Amino acid sequence: MSRANDPKLKSWVDVKPGSDFPIQNLPFGIFKTSTGKPGAAVAIGDFVLDLSLLSKAGLFNGIKFEASVFEQDSLNSFIALGKPITNAVRERVSDLLVIDNAELRDNKTLIAKALLKQSEVQMLLPVHVPNYTDFYSSREHATNVGTMFRDPKNALLPNWLHLPVGYHGRASSIVVSGTAIHRPKGQTKADDQENPSFGPCRLLDFELEMAFVVGKETQLGNSVSTANAGEHIFGLLLFNDWSARDIQKWEYVPLGPFLAKNFGSVASPWIVTLEALEPFKVESPKQEPEVLPYLKFEGKKNYNINLEVDIVTPAGISKTVSHSNFKYMYWNMCQQLAHHTINGCNIQVGDLYASGTISGPTPDSYGSMLEISWSGKNPVQMPDGTERKFILDNDTVVMKGYCEKDGIRIGFGECSGKILPAI
Ligand code: MN
Repeated sequence: MSRANDPKLKSWVDVKPGSDFPIQNLPFGIFKTSTGKPGAAVAIGDFVLDLSLLSKAGLFNGIKFEASVFEQDSLNSFIALGKPITNAVRERVSDLLVIDNAELRDNKTLIAKALLKQSEVQMLLPVHVPNYTDFYSSREHATNVGTMFRDPKNALLPNWLHLPVGYHGRASSIVVSGTAIHRPKGQTKADDQENPSFGPCRLLDFELEMAFVVGKETQLGNSVSTANAGEHIFGLLLFNDWSARDIQKWEYVPLGPFLAKNFGSVASPWIVTLEALEPFKVESPKQEPEVLPYLKFEGKKNYNINLEVDIVTPAGISKTVSHSNFKYMYWNMCQQLAHHTINGCNIQVGDLYASGTISGPTPDSYGSMLEISWSGKNPVQMPDGTERKFILDNDTVVMKGYCEKDGIRIGFGECSGKILPAI
């Protein structure tokens, strides 16, 4: 395990208890000041650390790469350098932030420019996303949806336990946390109507997901094994896959999700590296029936990441509507990547592969309003006396996630998205 993960490490940067960003995390993101150009940073406590300025000051001189990778509006070029370089950068940043290292600590001129308050910078989407795929890998979620829409006795379709079901999503409408989305319009058809009608979506929902960012490409025709998948995963972020349930219900047969899903998905701005998450690996749920050989794997491939969803009303009244965990996923990321590439489909740096809605075993751990309100039958009571079956105009949905062990909390920050009225 990387020395940057040592729970005993302390930083000279003041990191408040409960912060998502202690020295053991050091996630990567793209930030912008009101006057400057976008650039790469890591998060530490309430601050961002400007990697381009550190590089110009010669603080990465022992690691071979072009400093221009930190001066772009995405992390793709940096990530494409590969894990030997990106991990060395993370470990070097860790060394520079350690409490007894004076190199950066005592360079007050550099710190004044390079260590900026997160509240005073804007975070951008951390990667240019060439391709986006959404899986459907939570057994609990798939069972709930199958129970509601089909038959409780055969909630899972026959393929579900044999392969990680997924679909190709839309990369162009992936936005960074804080970006508002207008309620989509589209075709819907009520059960008691013969013909469809057109108008704003009435059953607007969030999907609590995590997505992994591809860090190493493959060539067309090649496949990634479950054993090697970790080499291709740079890190993870939180992901809200906004969904229009009424549009989805009418359009999805026979080819699956289309306009119900592609009007916007929200990503959190910090990519937490797979290396920072190493201490939080856990066993995967038992897979029965046995999977085909190319989907078999060894070792711990799930991650114990606590997840939470809040709905915030237009007046700022907040209620937590779900506590879930990434560890529940039936199909793990290595299996998803192995399946995705088994036919020779190539993957590219910056690709996002989302988990699918992450629901736990109990109603308070469901990852969508469709399940939490059970298709509108059990509305959520909000503290202001209103209720929610789905998401209303001007509501904000905030997702958070963190791992915790040995007094160390590795967090993801926030994935926040507001719904504006239809245009
Ligand atoms: Mn989804």
